[in-house]
Amino acid sequence: MPHVRLLILGGTGEARALAEECAQLQGVEVITSLAGRTSAPLLPSGEVRVGGFGGPDGLAAYLRATRVDAVVDATHPFAAAITASAVAASSETGVPLVVLHRPGWTAGPADDWRRVPSLSAAAAIVPSLGTRVFLTTGRQSIAAFAPLDRCWFLARSVEPPAPPLPRAVEVLLDRGPFTLDGERTLLAGHRIEVLVSKDSGGEAPKLAAAREARIPVVLVDRPALPRGVHAVQTIADALGWIAERIRCSQ
Ligand code: NAP
Repeated sequence: MPHVRLLILGGTGEARALAEECAQLQGVEVITSLAGRTSAPLLPSGEVRVGGFGGPDGLAAYLRATRVDAVVDATHPFAAAITASAVAASSETGVPLVVLHRPGWTAGPADDWRRVPSLSAAAAIVPSLGTRVFLTTGRQSIAAFAPLDRCWFLARSVEPPAPPLPRAVEVLLDRGPFTLDGERTLLAGHRIEVLVSKDSGGEAPKLAAAREARIPVVLVDRPALPRGVHAVQTIADALGWIAERIRCSQ
């Protein structure tokens, strides 16, 4: 029986779903790696390890010591440091790597989106669009908006954000999936005038709710993938790549 030890770099719903699918495959052993940012993470099937590796060299050492045969980087599209580490460690060790990143969002005719290259660019444009702002960029991103004294923020995150925070902020601790009805209620109940989001991709009822309410959206572009990396957009494609690794091990 062929045996492939697979490391999934996780922290996303896709990573959990992929680990679940891999648990059904013959001859695949899965280890999922989590950064350890959330206190009560949703755990995937299979073995789980938690915490950073210590940069690309640490990840390369881990791949060798654990005899990993293949790596799927299924981290969030904005988790650029771990993706860069995975690319470097794969090239150093020769362990094959695929990056699974869901596609970003595309505006429709009824959307009023302003694409910006960074969080600081988002903070620069927000005051010109409104004063009541729904921030959905995650707790590590709220500090970029701290200097905006003339805006009020509803900031949603899984874990409490660390200072600095804006002067006028209500923190909403919540984890998706969210519903269209829920997002409508939030926008209306807090009289939101601007929505700020990363271009994370995936299901996004917040974008549909903003479209309906004709609220402008500031969308932060995702970082570019490292040059030459093999990337796929769906779990099915990642599974195809894993099947190929199993065939190669026979
Ligand atoms: P990041 O900036 O790319 O990573 C910072 C450092 O955290 C990495 O250099 C690595 O430390 C460690 N790390 C990150 N992901 C890891 C993983 N899956 N396993 C082990 N170590 C990991 O990442 P981030 O933006 O802080 O995100 C951290 C985690 O949260 C990621 O796993 C990501 O999938 C998830 N997440 C991020 C976002 C977001 O918007 N950025 C949103 C949802 C979920 P070492 O250098 O020591 O190895």
